[in-house]
Amino acid sequence: MASDEALMGVAADLIAQQSAMLDMLEAFVSSESPSDDPPMLAATADLVAERGQDLLGAPAQRLGTAESPALKWELDAVDCDAAPVVLLAHLDTVWPAGTSDRWPFTVTGNQATGPGAFDMKAGLVQGLFALAALARTSLCHPPVSLLVTSDEEVGSPSGRDLVEASARGASAALVLEASADGALKVARKGVGNYRLRVTGRAAHAGLEPEKGVNALVAAAHLVLALDELADPDVGTTVTPTLATAGSAQNTVPAIAQVAIDVRCSTVAEQDRVDRALRHLRAPNDAAIAVEGGVNRPPLEERAAGELFDLAQRAARRCGLPPLSSARVGGGSDGNFTAALGVRTLDGLGAVGAGAHAEGEYVLITAMPQRAALLAALIVELGGESDEDRVR
Ligand SMILES: [Zn+2]
Repeated sequence: MASDEALMGVAADLIAQQSAMLDMLEAFVSSESPSDDPPMLAATADLVAERGQDLLGAPAQRLGTAESPALKWELDAVDCDAAPVVLLAHLDTVWPAGTSDRWPFTVTGNQATGPGAFDMKAGLVQGLFALAALARTSLCHPPVSLLVTSDEEVGSPSGRDLVEASARGASAALVLEASADGALKVARKGVGNYRLRVTGRAAHAGLEPEKGVNALVAAAHLVLALDELADPDVGTTVTPTLATAGSAQNTVPAIAQVAIDVRCSTVAEQDRVDRALRHLRAPNDAAIAVEGGVNRPPLEERAAGELFDLAQRAARRCGLPPLSSARVGGGSDGNFTAALGVRTLDGLGAVGAGAHAEGEYVLITAMPQRAALLAALIVELGGESDEDRVR
């Protein structure tokens, strides 16, 4: 079992590398990587592969596709036969190409800002430095992999398989998404994306409107009915977000479409809302088709509880202040690993604020601290099975 002194040494080693971490963050943020821009994703993946190789002394495996490249590093166990630990990161951001022209990477005092700095390029930097710090010590630890995908912000259509394959058989999935005001994320709501497609019948709005079936009027009734499906007391929200209807000023609309964002804390609630959406009835003769469905299952708190306790212990042992935990609405790739039954702890990335908002920033001094937390937590996960074996 690693001594507290050894873990404090890892933290001191990382704190001494704060400026190298900030340099890497600047390079990653300055390489824009919108989820829907394959050339920019490829260039950023190349950069991450190169800088990661310089740091770790080992090349990344190239995974994924041309549209959605992915990288993976693996660190062998040291004197430990515990199951592997998987770290999850993504290099794509929600920011369109050109954002950094008006909002370049900038450091002011203890804050670093730029598109994607907080969500989650700082977390990616922290993950790489945590692995490098472990590789430099002789501390016992389980095998660790770091998977970096590039379509997380659009629901991981291609990254999901890689995430699930990496997590199968792991003792824990540690997600390098940003923290919630410093708090680790022990529960995340599941996400459903739906589209209601309402089909009526067009007719001239002046000459013979009675021959039409108004898809827009039907959609309006349906939108109001969505309120009935929500259940805020258990955290279920059903939010109409986008709507289109009609084809001309003087025509009864034949088509209306409504996009709906659904968030639920439990699989049972996701199932209930899914069934209810598929049983919606129009108030007139319009036909309704429901497309889409559940995108990410919820990360339920029991999947994170033990890991949070271990993280709390790791923080104490490497001299960091006590951690707090939070339940949040947004989904991440951690939802997929939790659904596989793999213990999952999220929010282990950056400390800062403003995910998906202009001005998102990272607290610079927290970067080496959170990298140390990650390294110490991996060591704790190796020790966990030591104790089990003694029993
Ligand atoms: Zn993210």
